Amino acid sequence: MTSIDVLLKRNQEIGNIVPGDRSSPKPSLQVSILTCMDARIRVFEIFGLLQGEAHVLRNAGGVVTDDMIRSLALSQRKLGTREVLIVQHTDCGLSTVTDEEFKDELESATGLRPTWAVEAFRKVEDSVRTSMERARRSAFLLHTDNVRGFVYDVKAGSLTEVK
Ligand SMILES: [Zn+2]
Repeated sequence: MTSIDVLLKRNQEIGNIVPGDRSSPKPSLQVSILTCMDARIRVFEIFGLLQGEAHVLRNAGGVVTDDMIRSLALSQRKLGTREVLIVQHTDCGLSTVTDEEFKDELESATGLRPTWAVEAFRKVEDSVRTSMERARRSAFLLHTDNVRGFVYDVKAGSLTEVK
């Protein structure tokens, strides 16, 4: 049995129990939450999210990349969100690599060097600040006055705002 099979079995057992409003694709809290793919960040539980309340965008690191700007532009211009909450975290895998090392590794394994940035970082607060600045300066976003960034401590479960 694969992990996907395990998940499908769980889905059948759990059924459709999540409360919330399913009437509109527009998030009722008008907020986008951008965070890392890290499996310890239970974003729906951390913020007590119900169905229909927020957009949740994830990638490695929870960093604002061009593709995140694509999603945020759609979220704001077509689906009515007005605030951006960026949540990166302690003990992130992106703090254990460097851009050059990982690109070298991929190039030696495949013969291809990626054109994208790995977005590795040493200090998570610096990465949060970079992502906040990218969102705030993006010409594609309608609402950049409420872009806030936080570090989630995966062990303590606490959130600390980055100024
Ligand atoms: Zn991470």
